Amino acid sequence: MGKITLSQVRKSFGEVDVIPGIDLSIEDGEFVVFVGPSGCGKSTLLRLIAGLEDTTSGKIDIDGRDATLLPPAQRGLAMVFQSYALYPHMTVRKNIAFPLKMAGMSAAEQEAKVQHAAKILNLTNYLDRRPGQLSGGQRQRVAIGRAIVREPAAFLFDEPLSNLDAALRVTMRQEISELHQSLKTTMIYVTHDQVEAMTMADKIVVLNAGRVEQVGSPLDLYHSPRNLFVAGFIGSPK
Ligand code: ADP
Ligand code: MG
Repeated sequence: MGKITLSQVRKSFGEVDVIPGIDLSIEDGEFVVFVGPSGCGKSTLLRLIAGLEDTTSGKIDIDGRDATLLPPAQRGLAMVFQSYALYPHMTVRKNIAFPLKMAGMSAAEQEAKVQHAAKILNLTNYLDRRPGQLSGGQRQRVAIGRAIVREPAAFLFDEPLSNLDAALRVTMRQEISELHQSLKTTMIYVTHDQVEAMTMADKIVVLNAGRVEQVGSPLDLYHSPRNLFVAGFIGSPK
């Protein structure tokens, strides 16, 4: 569970080819980081995988199944938004349980899954609070909890830490890496931050103007950048 394959995936908005055509394989259990400058198409690519945008052409396979035309809810993936996407009027418990409630799960089953996620994320003592009564890091954990309870084939993160302060970003980066080590679920993580990419990724996908410049491990990219763009963005000087 969690293998994602893109074949000639293209996306245009009107006349503009934002993603002219991408081929990419993401293996089950990998931590893959999409990195590149602002506006290069990272969010669009993630949203295509999530099904929040339709491809203009090309194919997206998830676990050997053609998912290109499937609605987001049927892709088995969970998108983690920035912490401000929580419902402010609901408790932490209800925020985490929300996707389960939508899926019609019984209250007892919901509670068991919420407790499990809360334990993983150190939120057990905060379940009756509302997001406004939590720190930034705790709010981000609630957003992750809402994804964990769905037991997705892959987690999709779009710059989840960008509105946290620098110290908290370092902590949350470690927490997400630890979560990946314990769940062993595929994670796709979008960032424009080279340090995040280098410290978190098994595999980095460097994007530039909707194209893949290079795919490789942090060490590959650092030692053998394919071109000046990658070298300037990530690697040592070529
Ligand atoms: P990134 O996440 O790397 O900053 P995006 O994927 O958000 O980049 O955007 C890539 C390009 O696509 C940008 O030029 C952006 O303006 C454009 N774009 C994104 N979404 C839309 C949209 N819904 N309509 C038109 N253009 C869009
Ligand atoms: Mg973006």
